[in-house]
This record gives sequence, C-alpha cells and structure tokens, in this order.
Amino acid sequence: MKRVLITGGAGFLGSHLCDRFIKEGFHVIAMDNLITGDLKNIEHLFKLPNFEFYHHDVSKFIHVPGELDYILHFASPASPIDYLKIPIQTLKVGSLGIHNCLGLARVKNARVLIASTSEVYGDPLVHPQTEEYWGNVNPVGPRGVYDEAKRFQEAMTMAYHTYHGVETRIVRIFNTYGPRMRLNDGRVLPAFIGQALRGEDLTMFGDGSQTRAFCYVDDLVEGIYRLLLSDYAQPVNIGNPDEITIKEFGEEIIKLTGTSQKLISLPLPTDDPKQRKPDITKAKAILGWEPKVSRAEGLKITYEYFKSLSQDDLHRLAHHKEFK
Ligand code: NAD
Ligand code: UDP
Repeated sequence: MKRVLITGGAGFLGSHLCDRFIKEGFHVIAMDNLITGDLKNIEHLFKLPNFEFYHHDVSKFIHVPGELDYILHFASPASPIDYLKIPIQTLKVGSLGIHNCLGLARVKNARVLIASTSEVYGDPLVHPQTEEYWGNVNPVGPRGVYDEAKRFQEAMTMAYHTYHGVETRIVRIFNTYGPRMRLNDGRVLPAFIGQALRGEDLTMFGDGSQTRAFCYVDDLVEGIYRLLLSDYAQPVNIGNPDEITIKEFGEEIIKLTGTSQKLISLPLPTDDPKQRKPDITKAKAILGWEPKVSRAEGLKITYEYFKSLSQDDLHRLAHHKEFK
C-alpha cells in the first residue's frame, strides 16, 4: 500500500485530498495544527485502518515513522482575512514548513507536491496568467506575507529538486470552492452565501469590477492527482478559466439563494488583484486535464452544503475567526 502524507489535511482542500487518496487505496497520514482547519472535515475517516491523523505544526521538525511515497504540502492559511490575522505563521509555514517537508522527502525518498497559488502572479499585468509570467507582487503590502511565502516555497522546492534530486511537483491553484470551506474564512463565496442565508446584504468590495475564475474542488483534486503522478517538475496552473466579475458573481449568488437582500459596496482591500484567470494550456497538454464542473453545478452543490449547517453554526460563524 502506497503511503502519502498530506499536510493541512484537516483543511478544505487537504480533507478532499485525503478522501481521494483513501479512495485510490493509499495509506493516508493527515497532519494539521488545526489553526484554520477543522477535525469535522476528516472525522468520517478516523474509523479507517489506512488513515492516521497527526496533530502537529509543520513549521516544527516533522517526524513520521515508516516509509513515505508521497508528501503533499497543503498546510497554510489561505484566505486573505486569515493570513492577515496570522502573518508570521503564514510566512513560517511557507518557508520553515516546506523546508521540513523537503528534508523529510529526502530521507524517505518521497515525491513532494506543493500547493502554490495564483497569488504568485500578484496583481497580474498579463492576462490570462501563463506559468511563464513572473508576476507583479508587492512584498511589503498586506498580501506580501502569503504571496512571498508561496514564491519562496516554489524556489525552495526547485532548489531541492535541482541540488538534491528530490522529485517535486508544483501546482498553482486558482480560486477553488466547494463543501467544507469555512463559513467565516472571509473568502468571497462563503461570505456571500453565509450573508444570504442569514438575511444580510452581500458585501461586495469596491465596485465589483475585479474578476476571478472559480474552480470546483473535485476538478482541482483530479488535476492535482494527475500532476502528482506525472513526470513534470515545473509549475502547472490548475483552475477553471470561466472568468466572472465579483459583481456578476454576487448577482448569481442572489439568484441561487433567492435572497431578497442586495449587494452593498465596501472599500476594496489594498492590492486586491484586478483580474485573474488561469491559462490552462499546460495542464491540458501535459495532464490531459480540464475542468468538468460548471459554475452553476458547483455552486448548487456548495449551497446545499452550507444550507445543511445548523442555524447555530450559521450564526456562530458570522464573524471572522479570532486566533489565539
Ligand atoms: P484551509 O485554511 O482550509 O486549509 C489549510 C490547512 O492547513 C488548515 O487545516 C490549517 O489548520 C492547516 N495549517 C496551517 N498552518 C499549519 C501548520 N503550521 N502546521 C500544520 N497545519 C497547518 O485552506 P485551503 O483553501 O484548504 O488551502 C489549502 C492550501 O491550498 C494552502 O496551502 C493554500 O495556500 C492553497 N491554495 C488554496 C486555494 C483555494 O482557492 N482554496 C487557492 C490557492 C492555493
Ligand atoms: N470579495 C468581496 N466581498 C467579500 C470577500 C471578497 O467582494 O466579502 C472580493 C475580494 O475583494 C476579491 C474577490 O472577492 O476581489 C475574491 O476574494 P477572496 O478573498 O475570495 O480571494 P482572493 O482571490 O482575493 O484571494
């Protein structure tokens, strides 16, 4: 049985990856310090003999007994609200955390896949974003703690690949959504759906003319799985190129939820990228991958998930998480 370590395994994406690797017959070890994740996301796996959970901060030395075939490094705060509140932890997990994962990979002779992000392109001046674009990042702006950690993470990964011969894969993930997103993580989709469900106005930042392109989680997981098993070590964009303005996105959520509330405009956060859309030519050519789930389908499934939360959770998660 192949053995995989998934850091950030109790988070939104990490938990879906745990499910996928269990389904593929792997022994899965999820590692998480639960800073932004939730054990609820993986509690259904605890009864399985081929699933283990380690409560551990990956910015500290990582010890895993036994062999490892693969390491997927997904531990990191991921929403702008979260990483603004815990900037140092974000920088540490993207630097010390990946250093520990790569060192572990070296001794275990494991292949490493790291979760990078479209944020490495910053506020992009090239549209859509190809992997060859180097980006337009403000290192000292509020998003710098996340963007630069992820850029450092890519550089460190490449260095281990080049100098130590570690097998590495880099996925640049574009905005992904689906069940198990934290209702109060501040990202636009849980924010809008949570507001609609609580009968509040939807908080659009700026005039809503900024664009994003949203990928359903199952499509992303399929792309990551294919990339891991491929022999391609350069970064690959995985995302859904179906671009939409945030205003139109808000209008879609209003229609989907049937809320009688409206979009209200709040100030645009500093350095909020004006446009974002992946060029997925590489993923198509190298992995034979492209997204299959339309935004209409994906949003419907995600809305059903949020609707199934208790009223208590819905209101308890109305405010952004406080970190100790
Ligand atoms: P998430 O917050 O749901 O998951 C992150 C998980 O990492 C959480 O369970 C958290 O507790 C854990 N974690 C954070 N710091 C840790 C540490 N030091 N030690 C151990 N565990 C730690 O976010 P997500 O959306 O699932 O994002 C997962 C990864 O994917 C992140 O690396 C993120 O940068 C990347 N990513 C996500 C998106 C997206 O749209 N969801 C886009 C680009 C990149
Ligand atoms: N956004 C918004 N209202 C919210 C949260 C986010 O209008 O309540 C906007 C945000 O300014 C950005 C886009 O939605 O332009 C996507 O934001 P998110 O935090 O989901 O991720 P980002 O792509 O910016 O990392």
